[in-house]
Amino acid sequence: MRIVVPAGGTGGARFVRGLLAALAEAGEPADVTVVGNTGDDITLWGLRVCPDLDTVTYTLAGAIDEAKGWGRPDETFTVRDELAGYGVLPTWFGLGDRDLATHLTRTSLLASGATLSEATATIAARWGLPGLGVTLLPMSDSPVETHVLVQHPDDPAGAPPRLVHFQEYWVGLRAAPRALDVVAVGAEQARPAPGVLEAVAAADVVLLPPSNPVVSIGTVLAVPGVRAALEASAAPVVGVAPLVGGAVVRGMADRLLPALGVEVDAGAVALHYGASLLDGWLVDTSDVHAVAPVEQAGIACRAVPLLMTDVPATARIAAEALRLAEAVRA
Ligand code: GDP
Ligand code: CA
Repeated sequence: MRIVVPAGGTGGARFVRGLLAALAEAGEPADVTVVGNTGDDITLWGLRVCPDLDTVTYTLAGAIDEAKGWGRPDETFTVRDELAGYGVLPTWFGLGDRDLATHLTRTSLLASGATLSEATATIAARWGLPGLGVTLLPMSDSPVETHVLVQHPDDPAGAPPRLVHFQEYWVGLRAAPRALDVVAVGAEQARPAPGVLEAVAAADVVLLPPSNPVVSIGTVLAVPGVRAALEASAAPVVGVAPLVGGAVVRGMADRLLPALGVEVDAGAVALHYGASLLDGWLVDTSDVHAVAPVEQAGIACRAVPLLMTDVPATARIAAEALRLAEAVRA
């Protein structure tokens, strides 16, 4: 069974880890293509940083800081502190010393002419992803950067709102200013990375994990051709609600959905993706009210426990998603 998962960072990575466990339990060989969001990517101190690709890689390799959900465990920050000694900005983004080796590797590969896809494959190989049955593809080899329109707290009163990089909005400003709009800068000119459309066309199942619907899945879908390929695919597309009990479990989706005019509600997210994309949708048992409106829109919907508290619980969610995919296929 060939499975394609468009994914962001922490939520997407944890889901894929559970999916691998579910496949192992069922005795199914894993053939999973993760199409990773690169809208969070940023160049810092000359280094190309791809937070979501690295979070997927580290999580599947068992090399993630579990508590934070990003970066390496037992990390030190010597280089960052030395940079702060020079006053090199920004100070709000902390890259750990071990993590820096990944960014140095990627940056040197890119500088020597490799594409982001090639650099990503080299990094994924070191962490054993191919051996797990996972192919990690960036959504695009061209740069796409998510920016958020905000009234910046450093600007004088009366200044017009301005676009800030997603990392400045989330890490630097802690998502405090109200998001007025979210823009995937460069998306219109971007093309899907090699293998993305091919994987979608060959997929037996597409699963949308509980990743941020605006800045993770939304950005992958903003790459021209990706959404159309998913809609055209014969494979069932089944999503897992990224909201539980009408609230986020982590992250800032509750601050960004309103900027797109979408209610912070598991059913509203399904309707935002739309019946042209989704065949099935899982909501948490606490959001059972969402089942009827989602089904009325033509999307098969089930309410099951959706908290990814540990790998076995996440494997049960992934197994439910695969079951729903089989049900809508039949
Ligand atoms: P990313 O978008 O994949 O980088 O992941 P985040 O960790 O930023 O989370 C994305 C979305 O998934 C947020 O809206 C979270 O509320 C949601 N999420 C995180 N953990 C869970 C969980 O255990 N269960 C469900 N259903 N959603 C979750
Ligand atoms: Ca992300």
